[in-house]
Amino acid sequence: MVTESIRQVSVDVCQDHGMWLGPGKLELIKLRVFAKGSRKRAQRVEEAREEGRAEGRRF
Ligand SMILES: [Zn+2]
Repeated sequence: MVTESIRQVSVDVCQDHGMWLGPGKLELIKLRVFAKGSRKRAQRVEEAREEGRAEGRRF
């Protein structure tokens, strides 16, 4: 069994049995994955707005 880190959450990984998550860890990983995704989406929207301004479009 080795301890690895996914999104700063430590998980135990066993070669024979797979990954073991302690209480609440799956939720923690999901929250961090979601938080990262929404930041990226917000950034993409902002970039599209900047491009729109540069090209004289408004939205
Ligand atoms: Zn095992």
